[in-house]
Amino acid sequence: MKMEIKFFDGAMPVSSGNRTVSPIQAEYGKAGAWAEFTGTVRQMEKGEKIPALRYDIYQAMAKKVLTSHIEELAQKYGLLAVRFWHREGLVPVGESSVFIAIAAPHRKEAFAAIAELLDRLKADVPIWKIEADADLPKVEVAEKTPPAPGSMGAVWKVLGERVSMLEDERVPLAQAYHRILQEEVKADVDQPPFDRSAVDGYAIVPGEFPAKFHVIGVVKAGETAARAPGPGEALRIFTGAQVPARGLAIVMQELVKVDGEFIHVEKTQKIGDNVRGRASDAHAGDVLLSAGQKLTALELAILASVGAVNPLVKALPHVAHATTGDEIVSPDATPKPGQIRNSNQILISGLLQSCRVPATNVHQEHWGDDPVHAAARLASEPFAKADVILISGGASVGEHDYTARLLEGAGFELVVRSVNMRPGRPLLIGFRGRQVAFGLPGNPVSHYACFLLFVAQVLERQMTSRPKPWPWPRFCSRKLSQKLICTPNPRPTLCPARQSPQHGAESLIPLRWSNSGSLSALAGANCLIFVPPNTAEIPAGENVRVTFTHPLFIL
Ligand code: AMP
Ligand code: MG
Repeated sequence: MKMEIKFFDGAMPVSSGNRTVSPIQAEYGKAGAWAEFTGTVRQMEKGEKIPALRYDIYQAMAKKVLTSHIEELAQKYGLLAVRFWHREGLVPVGESSVFIAIAAPHRKEAFAAIAELLDRLKADVPIWKIEADADLPKVEVAEKTPPAPGSMGAVWKVLGERVSMLEDERVPLAQAYHRILQEEVKADVDQPPFDRSAVDGYAIVPGEFPAKFHVIGVVKAGETAARAPGPGEALRIFTGAQVPARGLAIVMQELVKVDGEFIHVEKTQKIGDNVRGRASDAHAGDVLLSAGQKLTALELAILASVGAVNPLVKALPHVAHATTGDEIVSPDATPKPGQIRNSNQILISGLLQSCRVPATNVHQEHWGDDPVHAAARLASEPFAKADVILISGGASVGEHDYTARLLEGAGFELVVRSVNMRPGRPLLIGFRGRQVAFGLPGNPVSHYACFLLFVAQVLERQMTSRPKPWPWPRFCSRKLSQKLICTPNPRPTLCPARQSPQHGAESLIPLRWSNSGSLSALAGANCLIFVPPNTAEIPAGENVRVTFTHPLFIL
């Protein structure tokens, strides 16, 4: 039996009705039937109009699973040849995504084998079909199939349904950097509000050149001229000064020969030369900024130019964070036997900073393992008024792990108690009114992964109030630069990795970590690679799914 499995990043060499497939008699002499199937992207998917579909493929695994299916089908139907082609990446509506051709002794077997292969393809081959959203850059994806219970998708879904938006507030311009504008901002007056000189020079009425002009006065920026120059007259004028009348040209001083009270101009000048006309930038009432825009330095400058000194922006979340554990000591202490330094406190503080939560909005303390003390602290003001509460450690079900009981005792409804991922399984998420509380597993790698996958997503949503497709984090397809080795696990694994530009291309290096306590493995990490369940190895060059988890993507 002859078998060919190929993936194409781009158009396939054959489309429905185009017979570039080798004639069956020549290639497979004994075959009585050659059946072809071409799958084409439809405009409507689940009742919604879509511009394209996106296919993410784990090529090595897909090939392995397909090979075993095809071998089984070949046995069952006596197939002589199977050609399986599949597109990868974005496939626009109307284009073919999959092509299958089967040679069999008779048509009955050929048709049956195609039908069965298509069914099997849907069931367990790691080729993901994702509806591409027209508004999103190519790398962003939005899966619409319902998430499995306890999966990461299920957590994002519940967060999407439950996380409250923050209020809007007015802040002085100096505090508005990187905030999200919540109102439309219009030009209050014409911009510029009057005709301005663009250069240092002389205002004249243009006529015949070369010509001589009598200098009748001077106007500087911020002043108004006593009168406009008439024919044969010139007004000394400086950059930014108001041009006193229409019908003038400003001659650059470099083009002028000064002779006492007179100037000589050789070169021809035209009306309007070097004049920045009133409203040439914007008219009063023009919309300069829209709601939802991020305020970088440039947008702040625009706000200043129209006098919008207290823009309406999204409020920033208040975050209260407690570390737990009697074994934890301050980083400046020398740990006694059995003790370890508190690294999660500064880890969370840094992650919050990279999410642009200002230090003034962050409260951190250490609780130890006494649940009575913890309950009292949870009731204290910083935790009572926080939008987001983070409790590090004690999220599991050990005797000293009190976070779940603590949160429930304080009136939080726990909607997540564990998530099917590695690291980070014992993740707690609870809601009390507009507050969301996370119980994060104490190990540093779990902390990093859970923060980036869930906490950062919540902060982003609160700060931007942007509607997001779920699952929230953006998984992108990227080529592995080095082999990824993993201890196979029935849970999906999130492997810390470093993505960086190298020789004009991106390099993606998985970082070595042995367990969720390997803090040192995190040095240099800026993303997580999604490793499917039970994977021991993914070869270099393979496309993997990467979440852009580094909070730089936020805001
Ligand atoms: P726990 O989730 O409380 O069971 O903690 C799991 C592991 O993480 C234990 O080995 C803890 O010692 C460690 N751990 C907990 N909190 C911290 C912290 N703040 N800094 C560093 N390691 C921690
Ligand atoms: Mg603990």
